[in-house]
Amino acid sequence: MKDYPRIVVPPPGPKARAIVECQDRWASTSYPKEYPLVIARGAGAMVEDVDGNRYLDFMAGIAVASTGYGHPKVVQAIQEAAARFLHICGSDFYFESFAALCERLARLAPGPSKKRVFLSNSGTEAVEGAIKLARHSTGRPAIVAFTGAFHGRTYGGLSLTASKSVQRAGFAPFLPEVYHVPYGYRYRCDFCRGEAACSMRCVSSIEDDLFAKRLDPKSTAAIFVEPIQGEGGYVVPPPGYVKALRELCDRHGILLVCDEVQCGVGRTGKMWASEYEGIEPDILLSAKGLGSGMPIGAIIAKESIMKWQPGAHGSTFGGNPVCCAAALATLDVVERDLLPRVPRLGERLLAGVTRLQQKYPSIGDVRGRGLMIGVEFVKDRATREPAPDIPHALVERAFRKGLLLLGAGKSALRLAPPLVVDESDVDAALAIIDECLGELTD
Ligand SMILES: *Cc1c(COP(=O)(O)O)cnc(C)c1O
Repeated sequence: MKDYPRIVVPPPGPKARAIVECQDRWASTSYPKEYPLVIARGAGAMVEDVDGNRYLDFMAGIAVASTGYGHPKVVQAIQEAAARFLHICGSDFYFESFAALCERLARLAPGPSKKRVFLSNSGTEAVEGAIKLARHSTGRPAIVAFTGAFHGRTYGGLSLTASKSVQRAGFAPFLPEVYHVPYGYRYRCDFCRGEAACSMRCVSSIEDDLFAKRLDPKSTAAIFVEPIQGEGGYVVPPPGYVKALRELCDRHGILLVCDEVQCGVGRTGKMWASEYEGIEPDILLSAKGLGSGMPIGAIIAKESIMKWQPGAHGSTFGGNPVCCAAALATLDVVERDLLPRVPRLGERLLAGVTRLQQKYPSIGDVRGRGLMIGVEFVKDRATREPAPDIPHALVERAFRKGLLLLGAGKSALRLAPPLVVDESDVDAALAIIDECLGELTD
């Protein structure tokens, strides 16, 4: 038997309350806390709060804690790197783990072309750099992105983001020459409403509507796409979708940028989600799970594209030596130990959630790949009217029972545990979700 989940004091306990009060008093008001978890430590998929409650984690700090909360191999790599030197700017000097990580990522990225790598501090900084690189290498200004997309919070990334309007409210003007088109969201498709015969109108309309009427494809630098939308609701597009975008890009000399900040590094059961489509992105972006929690991101681009001159782009901290060590250790653990397990555990989780869908009519849609599973709630299955209150209440209730969850999109739940979970963790999470939904629908 595992010693978690285990609630000994109803959270937030006394120690947690003091910290919540302090942080709420002094920290920016923009942090959208869902529930008052105050973490003290973690191990594997277990998180312990300051009052001794132990939680089973099914959100991994937004899909970041890929190897769990302190994998021994990752922690050891970090400690060894930290003991040697904490910083030397990778823009100006050389060091072994920087070189090794660039080589590793270049070799890991899908497709036969030679690649080069730029290391950043975060996902949004990788997006930002990719916007610059796409414009620089094509000499074209326009960028196409999708409704429901999340590409980060800095101005370039935010200009591509179209997931929740609160993320954009009050921040205009955005980057010019950004065009949003509908994503391949089968359950809420603007064109075919996810009917069995999907003719991928969501892709052909880019040609027939956007390029025919509003935007010259010859002035389009790139299409930015999440192979599975993350923040937008863990939305899996129809099979062949990213491949169809690849073909569209090829017809017009447009770069295809796959933002795998959330879905990459093994989460879907392959190292990169774009591998499922058998395509080669021109630029692939990584961050979140790459460093197991240490801040690191990457722009992995075809060598033919990443040819900007010295000084064109840089970063003081990007590719910090401690973060590079964490990323190399993470990739070791993911490749050797975790990737072989993810499909099996993902199938178990998906099957379990599908059983819950049969039991609870409020679950309108279940979708996902590997350990990246979205559960969308509706008021009525016939109308598919979103039911945002349900995931909200579910997340809150699960927390009180020792399960950490996170919403996504308007009315969905994202299941994204650390990739180290086992069968009993999956079953325990499903049991708590079942219990909560039973209480909520009584
Ligand atoms: C989280 C996320 C980002 C932004 O990453 P940060 O590290 O928070 O800046 C960009 N793209 C996708 C797909 C993400 O999920």
